[in-house]
Amino acid sequence: MGKDRIELIIKSLAERNIEGFFFESFEEAKLKVMEIIPINDSVGIGNSITLKNMKISNELNDRGNVVYDKTLAKSKEDSKELKRKSLLTDWYITGTNAITLDGHLVNIDHSGNRVAAMLYGPNNVIVIIGINKITSTLDEAIYRVRNIASPKNARRAGFKPPCVELEKCIDCKSTQRVCNSLVVIEGQNDKGRMKVFIVNEKDGF
Ligand code: SF4
Repeated sequence: MGKDRIELIIKSLAERNIEGFFFESFEEAKLKVMEIIPINDSVGIGNSITLKNMKISNELNDRGNVVYDKTLAKSKEDSKELKRKSLLTDWYITGTNAITLDGHLVNIDHSGNRVAAMLYGPNNVIVIIGINKITSTLDEAIYRVRNIASPKNARRAGFKPPCVELEKCIDCKSTQRVCNSLVVIEGQNDKGRMKVFIVNEKDGF
């Protein structure tokens, strides 16, 4: 990925009141996360392969932060409670399904907790994204989240909507549908609330 494209995204984000940062590796990005989040602050975690692979949840928990991570839930009720508690944390850490050169963040969500926390609730939001999720345009980003991210996420979560077999979205009305909210974040009201960490590696869908 050319540095000029990353610089363009960071500039576009700044125009949208979102802070952009560039890291060479997920490890470097994790060190920054651990540095800027105070140890007494609470943290909600959005479900993301990238974050799982980074082991952010475990490391924050081990050093004493209160962490709400629904992927560690022991039951459906527990999961629901963790998702609700994540909405009022000091920090929320999540991935995103796509980002455009113009600074749009595009996400599709199943129950909506992840996009809800990105939009409002947590005082601070950190979005961590690998370069494989960068798209040139908003149309491309929406195509990506519908036809690449969603079928793979559905398969990973054990759901069986038509796209799992077809490997493309047909805007199904299946009870197994995993795409109930398509959200485009175009800016932030509170300056400094949202930080986007762009990492020069590939991970996640
Ligand atoms: S709307 Fe249905 S077919 Fe399309 S990506 Fe979502 S779950 Fe798959």
